[in-house]
Formats: sequence, structure tokens, C-alpha cells
Amino acid sequence: MDSPAHPAFVVRASAIHGSGVFAARDIAAGEKIVEYRGEKITKAEAERRGLAREARRDGAGRVYIFELNQRYDLDGDIPDNPAKYINHSCEENCEAVLERGKVWIYSKRDICAGEELTYDYGYALEHFLDHPCRCGSPRCVGYIVHQTARTKLKQLLARSRKRAGRRES
Ligand SMILES: [Zn+2]
Repeated sequence: MDSPAHPAFVVRASAIHGSGVFAARDIAAGEKIVEYRGEKITKAEAERRGLAREARRDGAGRVYIFELNQRYDLDGDIPDNPAKYINHSCEENCEAVLERGKVWIYSKRDICAGEELTYDYGYALEHFLDHPCRCGSPRCVGYIVHQTARTKLKQLLARSRKRAGRRES
């Protein structure tokens, strides 16, 4: 049995971006790993904080804001929220699930000790150029966008590559 003294994860430097969260032991598919904690704020406040952080562009590159419902968002940029260090991947092994007003990170598949935990940040296609992805997975589309937008992004990128090719010839 896993005791709380042996948490499922550890935070350390990541090859994807800054700090990452890594499995400290084998994790089975469907495990509830960690709560994504934060401060509940209104949409207007979330918008203000998001823009301020994007504008700072200090290399942090993360906005940490989660959508809770139509009225409120969750700002995960608090000290006691290790889940905020989980990186995005185009081939993620975890997912964020909203459960009774709380966000939980669940494993989507079996994860081996030492693997980095990732989930789909779910960004819209808009402004994708601002969010390059370095997840390193074979299926990486190069930018952080929601799974449902990746096919469209690949088409967009292929079209712009074709145009660039024509200009060169
Ligand atoms: Zn990627």
C-alpha cells in the first residue's frame, strides 16, 4: 500500500520545460495522482492575470489558469501546488478532471517510475505561435494546442510550408 510518506511523484528539472513532475513509483492507469490546487477567481480577474503573465514573457511561459466553469477559473500559481509544474505533451499520459469544483490529475495509462507526467493543456488554436511545444514525443505537432485542434494545426503548418517553398523556388 502506498502511504502518504511515499507520494506518487517528485518535482525536478525537465527536458520539456523548466521544472516537471515525474513518477516516483509505478502508477496504474486511472490513479488519482494529485489535486491541481489554486485560488478561485472570476473570469475577469483570470483574464487580467493571464494577460499580465503573457506580457511578462519572463521565460516562465506558463499561465497556470484553469477553467472551472462559466463564472470562475482557478489560478494555480500558488506555492502549495506541485501540479502546476506538470508540462504539456502532445502524447500526454495524464488528464485533468474537474470533480465537484476541484481539479484532479489522473493517469490515463500505466506510467513507469521515472517517466515525466504530462497532460493536454487544451489551448485553443488561436495564438498557437506563442506556445511552442518541446514535448519530444513522436507525435509532437510543435505547438501546444488542444488535441481536437491538432489536425487543423498540421494542415495550417503544411499549407504555410508549401507557400514558403513556392516563394523560394
Ligand atoms: Zn508536443
